[in-house]
Amino acid sequence: MTGGLEGYDAVAEANAQKSVLAIHWSRICERLKAEVGEVEYRTWLRQITVGPVDEDEITLYLPTRFLRDWVRGQYGDRLGTLWNAEVPAIRRVELQVARPGSASATSPADGVTVPAATTEAREEAVSRPAVPAPVAEEPRHAEVRSDLAAPLDPRFTFDTFVVGKPNEFAYACARRVAERPSSPGFNPLFLYGGVGLGKTHLMHAIGAELLREGRVSVAYMSAEKFMYRFIAAIRSQSTMEFKEQLRSVDVLMIDDLQFLIGKDNTQEEFFHTFNALVDAGRQIVVSADKSPSDLSGLEDRLRTRLGCGMVADIHATTFELRISILEAKASASGVVVPAKVLEFLAHKITSNVRELEGALNRLIAHANLFGRPVTLEATQDVLHDILKAHDRRVTIEEIQRKVAEHWNIRLTDMSSARRARAVARPRQVAMYLAKQLTSRSLPEIGRKFGNRDHTTVMHAVTRVTELMEQDPAFAEDVELLRRMLES
Ligand code: ADP
Ligand code: MG
Repeated sequence: MTGGLEGYDAVAEANAQKSVLAIHWSRICERLKAEVGEVEYRTWLRQITVGPVDEDEITLYLPTRFLRDWVRGQYGDRLGTLWNAEVPAIRRVELQVARPGSASATSPADGVTVPAATTEAREEAVSRPAVPAPVAEEPRHAEVRSDLAAPLDPRFTFDTFVVGKPNEFAYACARRVAERPSSPGFNPLFLYGGVGLGKTHLMHAIGAELLREGRVSVAYMSAEKFMYRFIAAIRSQSTMEFKEQLRSVDVLMIDDLQFLIGKDNTQEEFFHTFNALVDAGRQIVVSADKSPSDLSGLEDRLRTRLGCGMVADIHATTFELRISILEAKASASGVVVPAKVLEFLAHKITSNVRELEGALNRLIAHANLFGRPVTLEATQDVLHDILKAHDRRVTIEEIQRKVAEHWNIRLTDMSSARRARAVARPRQVAMYLAKQLTSRSLPEIGRKFGNRDHTTVMHAVTRVTELMEQDPAFAEDVELLRRMLES
């Protein structure tokens, strides 16, 4: 296919063709990697091996039928285009199922096997990072079970996860499972917490870490996807295959398990898969929005088993964590975001990390697009709609009522002149929360608390802030109240 091959005998020519193809293929791989990202590439495309060229058609091999179908569906056209751009004589790509390492196949870029008798092509091929080619007898090499699983998001790693009080336990458990899957006491790992607090991030991080270590096969999917796969398997009468595949992984991660509530058949299937895997010493990681005991609607026996390993919750973010996350993400973006703006966002957007991230991303995109520095004014302008949606519509009366209930004092004491600590402290907390959660001015707030002066409100805010720093139990009380009022 390239010049200069005349005169070789048939074997040498075949070998030369292979090595030339290997070089083309490694270039295509580089482009694919750049286009789809490292993780997508590793998940789906790395397992491709290059077969022979027949006239204008090149054959590529994949190890399983599922993988073959998936790659054909997602990347078939792109592979055709890229091959054609590399080697104009190739106009079609044929995808076939074959075991890696089978005689006719050439491994991809990071495991190029080059026959002994070759040209200078060899130099180029072997000078790439020398990762050993997959060994045929190796029973399970590191892989995402791509035929079953959803790809992992490359952004969700342990490195990019910001650790703080609300998530440090869950983080530690996730790390532990990634380091030593299936250790007693950590199987299953059950992660739970509200939406947008990092459950999926941690699960992907576990997956990424295990794959980086290269020891195990990992399948990650949402409970919803699990259900669809299961139903599809029933329809196509391939439930046995589905079961076998699931039961062949080392680590199975199911995200958002609450989705299975009310889906009895799927739950049943999951229960059996779960048992089979745990009994075989494999690791299960599950996430949900509630703890096992609060997931009413799940079958009792499943609930019991889910609670048998390690249950770790991710709490709502604190101001400090929100600031750390914003700092980390701002610094990763390379755009300078003043501390004032970060504080403003951390105060305003308290619901979850996803929204916080969304707001910051929009700010950064604006800064990049218009080349203007990020200021507080620009922030208020750019995020106008988001901020409005987050403008809490809590009233001062509601705050007073909840706070009075919490500390068991009379509502009238919120405006009374009594100065006893048992009354004065809750009153200060109510003022503090009124400042935090409403857009009322200090004098307005003062008026609602028995016509007090705005300096009294100011003092209350300072005092409560100090106390929260000194006394974690008190801080927790205030945070709890805030959360109740915000929800
Ligand atoms: P959940 O699955 O709990 O709903 P996700 O894991 O999807 O939440 O997190 C939502 C977004 O917030 C993701 O982009 C994730 O990277 C980000 N995120 C959540 N927690 C953290 C954290 N502690 N550090 C960095 N990013 C985080
Ligand atoms: Mg999630």
